[in-house]
Amino acid sequence: MQEVQKPSKKPLIFYGILTLLILLLLNSTLFPAITQKKIISVDYTEFMQMTYDQNIGKVQIEGTEITFTDKAEENIYRTVLIDTDLDLVQRVYDNGGSLSRVDTNPGLLTSILVGWILPLLPFLLIGYFLNRKMKKMAGSSGGGMLFGAGGDSGARMYVPSSTGILFSDVAGEEEAKELLLEIVDFLHDPEKYRSIGAKLPKGALLVGPPGTGKTLLAKAVAGEANVPFFSIAGSEFVEMFVGRGAAKVRDLFRQANEKAPCIIFIDEIDTIGKKRDGQLGGNDEREQTLNQLLTEMDGFDASKGVVVLAATNRPDSLDPALLRPGRFDRRIPVELPDLQGRVDILMVHAAKIKTDGNIDFEAVARTAAGASGAELANIVNEAALRAVRNGRKAATQEDFQESVETVIAGYQKKSRVLSDEEKKTVAYHEVGHALVAASQTHSAPVQKITIIPRTSGALGYTLQVDDNDHFLMSKDELLNKIATFAGGRAAEQLVFNSVSTGASNDIEQATKIARSMVSQLGMSDEFGFVSFEETSNVYLGGDVRGTCSSVTQAKIDEKVMQIVNRQYEKALSILKQNEEKLHLIAKYLYEHETITGAEFMQLFNK
Ligand code: ADP
Ligand code: MG
Ligand code: ZN
Repeated sequence: MQEVQKPSKKPLIFYGILTLLILLLLNSTLFPAITQKKIISVDYTEFMQMTYDQNIGKVQIEGTEITFTDKAEENIYRTVLIDTDLDLVQRVYDNGGSLSRVDTNPGLLTSILVGWILPLLPFLLIGYFLNRKMKKMAGSSGGGMLFGAGGDSGARMYVPSSTGILFSDVAGEEEAKELLLEIVDFLHDPEKYRSIGAKLPKGALLVGPPGTGKTLLAKAVAGEANVPFFSIAGSEFVEMFVGRGAAKVRDLFRQANEKAPCIIFIDEIDTIGKKRDGQLGGNDEREQTLNQLLTEMDGFDASKGVVVLAATNRPDSLDPALLRPGRFDRRIPVELPDLQGRVDILMVHAAKIKTDGNIDFEAVARTAAGASGAELANIVNEAALRAVRNGRKAATQEDFQESVETVIAGYQKKSRVLSDEEKKTVAYHEVGHALVAASQTHSAPVQKITIIPRTSGALGYTLQVDDNDHFLMSKDELLNKIATFAGGRAAEQLVFNSVSTGASNDIEQATKIARSMVSQLGMSDEFGFVSFEETSNVYLGGDVRGTCSSVTQAKIDEKVMQIVNRQYEKALSILKQNEEKLHLIAKYLYEHETITGAEFMQLFNK
């Protein structure tokens, strides 16, 4: 949705400070100047001279002071009274002056203006800005203004936008597309469904990890159905004042109803759809907004052709009321793409750049295991950028391969120079990983080993690429994986008899696998088929929460230690058996800095 009014970015406090400054400035300069006419001090001879020059107007004698004006009464002068000047009055009279009061104050009107209105001005200004802000925030509702103005109901239009995106722009995600196609069909021809008496789901909820194309899919539905598309982010409902968000929801649905058939798309709905909790100090505003949304979804007549789509990557935090039938009753998973999906996505995006024509997308997709659609789009763009950087007119296979690594591990950091000793250590460390992986069954083949530092902080890495996507992992595979992670440190230990900090990430990953084996996967001999931890937020990395007693927790820790250390010993013994090869390949890697999987296997099988 495009808002017609652009909200002002400047915070309220800005206006407050501004007016305060203006007030101070006026106080020190303008106010005194206006409230009191300027009085010029002169000495007595000057007064006498002006009298003789007949340039004298009013003269007022008061106490020890004489206040007088020039003939035109433009300026006011003041001087001290000299008691001995007895001719004073006569002289003034003779020269055309008049003895009367000299008014040093401005007129009544001016003094009211200066004394009362001007000081009020800053407050009026603040009020004005506040009011304006308020109206903006109030959006279209026009209800109870803080300053009573209410005034223009300024209905904000939720401008339906035409997205121009079609299903063909979304690669992979075939299941999601299939589920959405029915909605598109309904919007095209509601009568077909109405005549049978079928009701279409009012809402569909797209759930999945970030970057998998949820927003894109929603836009594609609108593009395909060719109906108005009201798109709003959940955060746009979040308001400072209770009731505003709810008013926005009301407005949105009213306008959508007028434009039916149409689609309402609420992106990142978890912002407003979070579970309501009875906690004290809970977010009243958010709850009201959610309640309004629930009411609206109940209220509107689906047969008219208003479909509500929403997207989130935190489905487990949504309020159950939102998910019950009659609201978002259709849940459409949008998962990370599989191998074929990745190939398709790469191709969709590669069609937008110039390539040299014979790119092996499958090889690229295989290397980019676990990448989301957004990451793949990024990979394609990086490849194009790399081609430009190297002065080429089209992206090549090499550009693509390198950009996968760029997205996974960061840019090559040519400026970082490792010392000889460090470089040697890194070489042995990486070859340690590769050798352990190659010596075990069930390990993904090594595709590349490099000891060129990356901007991500990695000093080197070993790229293992599976032939196919894996959906199931056996216990042995997991154990081998842990051993492979341990291989780096084991090689350092074996060769240098000392260890470095380079293995911290390996240790973390190995421990994570071991822990989930024990506490979630039921793969330990002692505990067996029991779960001790549960994962929430699966689409955002996953938060693990323990559900066991502290006694069990201690046992789990022990078990995890046992598993990891046993695999470390295994890695160490594999490397001991292959010590010659370790030296040979590490030396080769040290000299070449990057070796391919084929080179590695050749040396390994020697
Ligand atoms: P999210 O699921 O977080 O809403 P988006 O829909 O915003 O992800 O996707 C971000 C970008 O990633 C899209 O604009 C598109 O370029 C790319 N992308 C993601 N998934 C796909 C896909 N399945 N096909 C093609 N491009 C995709
Ligand atoms: Mg999104
Ligand atoms: Zn390592």
